[in-house]
Amino acid sequence: MSTIKKIGIIGAGQMGSGIAQVCAQAGYDVSLSDLNEQVLEKSLAGIARNLDRQVQKGKISEADKAAALARIATGTDLTIFADSDLVIEAATENEALKRDILKKLVPHLKPEALIATNTSSISITRLAASTDRPAKFMGMHFMNPVPVMQLVELIRGIATDEPTFNAVKELTEAIGKTPAVAEDFPAFIVNRILLPMINEAVYTLYEGVGGVEAIDTALKLGANHPMGPLELADFIGLDTCLAVMQVLYEGLADSKYRPCPLLVKYVEAGWIGKKFGRGFYDYSQTPPVPTR
Ligand code: NAD
Repeated sequence: MSTIKKIGIIGAGQMGSGIAQVCAQAGYDVSLSDLNEQVLEKSLAGIARNLDRQVQKGKISEADKAAALARIATGTDLTIFADSDLVIEAATENEALKRDILKKLVPHLKPEALIATNTSSISITRLAASTDRPAKFMGMHFMNPVPVMQLVELIRGIATDEPTFNAVKELTEAIGKTPAVAEDFPAFIVNRILLPMINEAVYTLYEGVGGVEAIDTALKLGANHPMGPLELADFIGLDTCLAVMQVLYEGLADSKYRPCPLLVKYVEAGWIGKKFGRGFYDYSQTPPVPTR
């Protein structure tokens, strides 16, 4: 029987909200934090909309929806994690920011509490070193959108102990996901393969080999991908895509991972994809319009 009953989540963006939803639906008590109340309200409203859709489709009852929502508590203060058995860090993909969050988090935790990070690319061992409990720290990398995607990558840092790994693996299975174990190398398995493909799609656009629509259509119909790579980049968030490419480039010291200058430019412009309303597509119109 797992020792994890109460789950804390730091960051209520796309990923933190999805993780909160699946954990609450699986019967866990969830504490969810972010920088301000507006983000938390938006997150809860998004979770409620997702649950409404499940009610409409007959997958869950109104009572299930109400019970799941009632299991999610929110707050802007790290004190909400005082009784958490596991805290999952799902804040912005930036190493300095994550290290700072972890350092401030640990004094509020029970000594036996575990910590996981949902980082897409950053070294688990280095993040673990900014806590007081590297043995109780590991990577738990969910996919976007969390309620839909089956996989969770599990990554041990150099110090992660087996009880921690086993508890997080059990939790992964208890929330209906399938684990795949990856070693602690930059971007692990999924993003080591996926992000260079997305970066290459941006180079293809940058060099004028094709427009946004042609590139996405080519990969959807030519490689049988459910989404085109540029559409997928917008969905992930171009800021996250760039951060992962930078970690690959610096971590593996190989020029083949050089982030495309066009990706850099979009992020500098603040056009970071669907969550902002504009990326390789303009989402102010339905259906979204390619920007190049
Ligand atoms: P996002 O921009 O939607 O959300 C990040 C959230 O973190 C924001 O709401 C922000 O306000 C919050 N935040 C920033 N600093 C904080 C702090 N000090 N305390 C509390 N909250 C803080 O990003 P996202 O897509 O949800 O990504 C979050 C993490 O999940 C990143 O590490 C990312 O690499 C990883 N991830 C993303 C995807 C994806 O497809 N987007 C997939 C897997 C993993």
